[in-house]
Amino acid sequence: MTAASRGAPAHQYEPLACKSCLYTTDHPLGLVLDADGLCSGCRIHEEKDRLDWDARWKRLEALVSPYRVASGKTYDCIVPVTGGNDSYYIVHLVKERLGLNPLLVTYNKYFNTPLGIRNLANLRIRFNCDILTQNVNPVSVRKITRTTLREFGSIYWPCLAGQTVFPVQTAVRYRIPLIIWGAHQGLEQVGMFSHEHEVEMTRRYRKDHDLMGYEADDLLSIFDTLSEDDIWQYRYPDDASLHGVGVRGIYLGNYVRWDPKAQHEAMVARHDYQGARFERTFDTYDHVDCFNFMGLHDHIKWLKHGYSKVTDHACREIRHRRLTRQHALAMVKHYEGQPVPDTDLFCEWLGMQAEGLAQVLDAHRGSRVWRRLDDRTWVRQREAASNAECSEPAPAAIAGIERELRFEATHSRYQEQARRYIVIGKGFPD
Ligand SMILES: [Zn+2]
Repeated sequence: MTAASRGAPAHQYEPLACKSCLYTTDHPLGLVLDADGLCSGCRIHEEKDRLDWDARWKRLEALVSPYRVASGKTYDCIVPVTGGNDSYYIVHLVKERLGLNPLLVTYNKYFNTPLGIRNLANLRIRFNCDILTQNVNPVSVRKITRTTLREFGSIYWPCLAGQTVFPVQTAVRYRIPLIIWGAHQGLEQVGMFSHEHEVEMTRRYRKDHDLMGYEADDLLSIFDTLSEDDIWQYRYPDDASLHGVGVRGIYLGNYVRWDPKAQHEAMVARHDYQGARFERTFDTYDHVDCFNFMGLHDHIKWLKHGYSKVTDHACREIRHRRLTRQHALAMVKHYEGQPVPDTDLFCEWLGMQAEGLAQVLDAHRGSRVWRRLDDRTWVRQREAASNAECSEPAPAAIAGIERELRFEATHSRYQEQARRYIVIGKGFPD
């Protein structure tokens, strides 16, 4: 008996799929299809080949010009960084092309890989920048993680909250009004805005999308396990403080034709950024600083939404025309079912048994995605696109596609060190 013949669920819901990329109208950030069956993310991506990027760069130069500090006694702007993602390219644009003097800020997420610590240290040395690190005490971080995991199935709330609030708090505290971010996720993935809207950082987007609808004070009022002492470090500055300093956060992706793969390759060649191979995606550059983003956090995305980060990477590569739709489906099919690495490190860090973690995660499986057959067995409500449209790819076929794509990785995220979180990274070399 197949899963389908056990009886269809009462609410049969069919999301619509984009004809070009692999996203559907189920995307958690929201996505619409046009009359041609193309999604808003693909349509907005077309702007990258249409806009006059020289003219947009000049708009950026004019925008940042009033923030240059003539005295040289303070910083021109704040740049949030990590030991992964687009950090090198952002600092490259800000310091080497715009000629600004940034204060780098980084939030310690505790799940640091040795490679991430190495990349971050190399970043500040190469670019000769000052850096501020926020270390929230580990007792509170664990308490919040336990609560957000149990209540809404997120192990990453403190990381996302810290990364998005510490730069804003620093802007207020140091009276540095301008914060410069990389690309806007809502624009890049689902075309929530046009590049020409030049959207800026908002508290609202942070709460609704980055933080899954919960700001720090919401955690306090809803869940009685947390106290004021635990959450105050994650509190967004109030409007009076923000307006008093004139804080604004801009996105470089509105002024530069954003292409993470090309940008990372340039930073590998020019500034010795280092990537690493992952178990669950082909991209070797994005999240090398974290043990969990491409591991347990990615697995949770799969349980909640029915797709994982490899789909995001595949969609991006389709849009940049480096991957055909058929090859993208094969990559997704190959990677999304891979085992989840390093969950033992997370359980040890949080003081939780693997069995307990599995139970909590089952409670947060998306009801549109999964149906429970018995205690241990779940089936998908409907076939994933990669199953419906693509047969099981042979390892040689995957290797061939990857050779053509050329995501390089010469290093390991463990850096020949023990496989453990670098809770506080001192630097590299020490
Ligand atoms: Zn699309």
